[in-house]
Amino acid sequence: MAELRREPVTRMWVVVTTDHPKGPSDYLPFKPPYRPQEPEGPCPFCPGNEGMTPREIFSLKGEKEGWSVRVIPNKFPFFHIEGDFDRRPEGMYDVMEAIGAHEIVVENPAHQTTLATMEPKQIKKILLAYKERLIDLERDRRFRQFLIMKNYPGIFNRHPHSHILAMPVVPKRIDEEIWGASDYFQRKERCIFCDIIKEEISMKKRVILETVHFLIFSPFASRYPFETWIIPKVHASDFHHIGEEEMEDLSVGIQSLFHSFETLLSDPPYSLTFHTSPIQDRLHRLHYHWHIETRLRIGLREGFEWGTGFFVNPTPPEEAAHYLRGVG
Ligand SMILES: [Zn+2]
Ligand SMILES: [Zn+2]
Ligand SMILES: [Zn+2]
Repeated sequence: MAELRREPVTRMWVVVTTDHPKGPSDYLPFKPPYRPQEPEGPCPFCPGNEGMTPREIFSLKGEKEGWSVRVIPNKFPFFHIEGDFDRRPEGMYDVMEAIGAHEIVVENPAHQTTLATMEPKQIKKILLAYKERLIDLERDRRFRQFLIMKNYPGIFNRHPHSHILAMPVVPKRIDEEIWGASDYFQRKERCIFCDIIKEEISMKKRVILETVHFLIFSPFASRYPFETWIIPKVHASDFHHIGEEEMEDLSVGIQSLFHSFETLLSDPPYSLTFHTSPIQDRLHRLHYHWHIETRLRIGLREGFEWGTGFFVNPTPPEEAAHYLRGVG
């Protein structure tokens, strides 16, 4: 049996198979290990090799010496900072220059660390680096949308790092969320994400962890096995307005979640992204609610998803939350 579940914000349908739900052991083992090993050659993100990277944009001091988090421009950016948009048609098609910022956050001086093994206080420093960079980038009026993302393992370098992007357009995925949230707000005068939070806290069955300021849960229409959202419990549209205490609380939540992933699924590959409100349009402040989405790159059925736009998830979110709660 399978259920078609509708994601309430974007209204996308997801097929959740409920008959023989896949548990963690059905996805094991992964090969090869993703955890970063000793680097084979000189790693540009390791301390001592700073000269191998473009000039640093931002850094936080280490406890004794050197740096603890470092931000540099991406050598191979999706977006480049100089130039004009030069919007133009190409026949019936639209083209513009990819103006934006693409920065790399080196998350830790130690090469062989992961979010699962880092101390929460180090994760807090990473969050602070994101926040400071976004505050700075917000001053550039050309940018409309920020995206923070991380792939694990990293594609070009396994040294723990993440990406900050500032883009001149709002990506489709976020645009769909904004559209859904704004439609809901017009009808109910309430934030749909705040309503989801209330619902999930009262139902409990998809909650993985509730901290003072954040809810970590498996969304009702999870597209991927063990898909997880981390969301502030009090309405907030922009990640970079996060306070000190919230950052501390969030870093504990992130460490705990990734530790659970690692324990349960033996070091799975994953992606995570921060969805935060577009920056120039203050209208979204009432109905958009920032959050982090995490997705394990396991059990994909790319062909069907690619062909139909439907996602098929063989691990119902209730089961996923049950497993993840168990190891937390
Ligand atoms: Zn390194
Ligand atoms: Zn809200
Ligand atoms: Zn989202």
